[in-house]
Amino acid sequence: MTEASRLDHPVTGRCLCGAVTITVEAMEAQVDICHCAMCQRWSGAFYAGVKGENVTVEGEAAVTAYRSSEWAERAFCGTCGSNLWYRFLPTGSRSFLAGLFDLPTGFGIERQIFVDEKPDWYDIAQESPMLTGEEIIAEAEAAGFSFG
Ligand SMILES: [Zn+2]
Ligand SMILES: [Zn+2]
Repeated sequence: MTEASRLDHPVTGRCLCGAVTITVEAMEAQVDICHCAMCQRWSGAFYAGVKGENVTVEGEAAVTAYRSSEWAERAFCGTCGSNLWYRFLPTGSRSFLAGLFDLPTGFGIERQIFVDEKPDWYDIAQESPMLTGEEIIAEAEAAGFSFG
């Protein structure tokens, strides 16, 4: 996989009510898509996340984090209910809901995962790598993570 290009300026996103703002420096110019059943339930359809370095969150007091599984936490604004981020607990890395930000044009899709759990009423037309749940779990296990 080639290194994603990064934006050369910080981007700030916010929840619907504005209580929480998130600034990401050097955001990767691509979106990560997850079609798993949990993301469908959480996001309404699929999860679309962005990530980058040097993240600043303001309004932490309004943030509620929900431990959605042994290895992940999902955060949302306790005032307006906007979903904010998904945190993979073994590494602490977060990805943020793409819709919180006014993103510049030209973003690609890094890949779509859990494509086997995607409902059949939509498809994402943009060309991107697609992995099943089994494939992404095998990849994570090969990287040293375990899922009970
Ligand atoms: Zn809010
Ligand atoms: Zn998911």
